[in-house]
Formats: sequence, C-alpha cells, structure tokens
Amino acid sequence: MTVEPGTFGTQRELNRLRVVDALRRSGTASRSDLARMTGLSRTTVATLVSDLQARGLIVEQADARVEPSGRGRPPVLLRLDAAAGAALGLDFGHRHVRVAVADLSSTVLAERFVELDVDGAPEEALDAAAELATGVLAEAGVERSRVIGAGMALSAPIDSEKGVVGSTVLPSWAGIQAGEELSRRLEIPVELDNDANLGALAEVSFGAGRGLADVVYVMMSAGIGAGLVLGGRLYHGASGIAGELGHVQVRPDGAVCRCGSRGCLETVASTGALLSLLGAIHGADLTLRELLDLVADGDLAAKRVVNDGGRAVGRAVADLCNYLNPAAVIVGGDLSAAGDALLDGVREEIDRHALPAAAEAVAVRAAVLGDRAEMLGALAVVIADTSRLRSAGLAPLGAGR
Ligand SMILES: [Zn+2]
Repeated sequence: MTVEPGTFGTQRELNRLRVVDALRRSGTASRSDLARMTGLSRTTVATLVSDLQARGLIVEQADARVEPSGRGRPPVLLRLDAAAGAALGLDFGHRHVRVAVADLSSTVLAERFVELDVDGAPEEALDAAAELATGVLAEAGVERSRVIGAGMALSAPIDSEKGVVGSTVLPSWAGIQAGEELSRRLEIPVELDNDANLGALAEVSFGAGRGLADVVYVMMSAGIGAGLVLGGRLYHGASGIAGELGHVQVRPDGAVCRCGSRGCLETVASTGALLSLLGAIHGADLTLRELLDLVADGDLAAKRVVNDGGRAVGRAVADLCNYLNPAAVIVGGDLSAAGDALLDGVREEIDRHALPAAAEAVAVRAAVLGDRAEMLGALAVVIADTSRLRSAGLAPLGAGR
C-alpha cells in the first residue's frame, strides 16, 4: 500500500492499517499468514490483532481448510468485521437498478434489485437506488457511517473530468452529474464509472480474468461496450470515453444508430439487432430468454444469427488485439449466455483478422459473473482503493490529526 509520510501519525497506526489491508486482500488469514504478508514480526501482529479485536474490527472464525485428523491445534482464521468498514455497489442498467453492500473483503452482505426505466427516468432511478441502499444497509445491520464509499455503474459514456454523463447515447441523462446526484441522496462519496468498465474490473478481480493484467471485456446486451484493463489498471482514456466499442462503424451505409451515426457495431450485434433479425421467422415479440433457449435447443437460425453477432464483434476486437495485445477477450452481458455459438464467432474473426502473434496470445472466454458483474465491479472500485481505509474507523486508533 502507498502511504504518504506523516499522513497516519504513529507507526503503530500504520501497522494496524497494514494488517487491515492484508485481510482486505486475502479475505481470511491466520496470525502467521498476516506476519508473512505484512513483513511484521509475529509478536507485533499478535498485539495489533488483539487491539483490532478489542475494537470489534477483526473477528475470529473456524478454519474450514483444516482436516479434523490433522495434528496439533488448527490455526485460528481472522477476518474483517463489517464494523471495520463496508462499501456499496450500485448498478444502473437500462431497465434495472441493483444495489449491494459488502464488507471490505468483498463479501456481499445484502443485495436488492428492482426493474424500472433507468434510461428514461434518471431522477426516479436515483431515488429508487437510494431507497434500495437504505434497505440493504438495514438488512445487513451496517451503519451508514461505516460505509467508506459507493461505486456506481451506468450504461453511458462518462466524462471523467467533469463527472457528467456525456454524448447523445443516453439523452435523458446527458449533462447530469450522476455521481454527485447519488452522493447527495446517499450522503456517501460516490465513484461513478461506465458499466462495461466496472464489469471488466469485476471479471479481472473475481471472475474469468482473475490474475490477468491485460484484458478486453466486451459487454453484449441492449448496448455494446468494452472495458479495457491494461497493465492491471482500468484504462479510461483522456476524457473517459475509451472502450466505446459499440459505436465503432462496421457498415458505412448501415442502420441509423442512437448515437447519430450509421452502421455502428451496436446496430448489428446488440440483443435488439439480433432479435429483430429473428423476428421474421420467430415472431416480432421474441424475447431474449426465448432467443437463448432457441440457441440451447440447436435452432439453426438462432445459432446463425448469434454467431454472426459474435463475428461482427470479433472483427472489431481483432483490430483491438493488434493495438493492445490482450491476454484475454472476455465476453459478458446478456448475450454471453449463448455460449459457444457466440464465442466461436468472436474467436474465428480474431484468428482471421488479427496478426497471428496477437491472435495466439489471446484467450476468448465467456464472463462468469453474469448480471451481477457491474455491481461487483462497483464494489471493487471502492474496496480496491486502499486510501479509503483511512476513513474505515481507523483514525480513532491513535492518529495525531
Ligand atoms: Zn452508434
């Protein structure tokens, strides 16, 4: 962890933060694990742990890893109590809001979901999210003062400097300081980011991209977006627009797109585009669930349309593979449930159009976190920010501030 000199007051407080940070990263650890992870002596760790236990910030739990037949006393595992701090994750999809509260080890303590018209009614969506947040905090028994921050995922390009929702893609949200609006309602600092960016962060933190530093995450739903993780960090670009894959032009004289251009990838490979293609034979009221069932049942037209959607994405991502040389392309969003019919299309076009060395280096995988990815990423963006631990109730432990 990075510490500015003099920021935390005493050395002892700095060491307490080290122990808390090690538990945040590992989830659970024994006292000797903590000594190894922090580089502190066992005696020092034991003292710090009893101190933190006395304050209710660390609790003991039985070690499930140790077999009963093992010799000697099993080591006692420690974990952070929600009293040490908690985070809120809020995902604003096109038609839903999902809210969860987690402890600092990323364990979700309570979660709620509501369907509503997020795209068309920003104020109502923000109010509903604040209400859900109050609900999950009460359900988990977490006091608002223990929450170190809230992450917010929104399906729109976000100007990282001004903090406003940009462009024409989500007109009713355009120009709204969405993070500030939510923060005012929650009375908690909010970190706002694009949903594909936070989905990417979740998949590299907990999912299909775990352990990888260079990943392109493609979200295929009602919209299409990409989240780029480069050198282990989310890449936002100069003003926060990086990864707007859905508005890469793939058919110069194609259908008019909601962004005002024509033939964007989104007009070809979004769920809406695929459903309307199948409408001709399966009816105009075909739902996404029915489309996925048709693919699973081996319906030729459904498989063909999904594969073509995968190909269109793969063609655009092949160029990204040349530019960025990622280790994995992770396909998430509602369509990822279509499985190989979709992924094979992505893979084939990468192999066909990327430089062989770039194509060989990249694994094409389905995302594993499903429709919770964006919410989990919203939690991760808060929890991964070590500097926020300062507000995690550690200041009263002796900071000379
Ligand atoms: Zn477009």
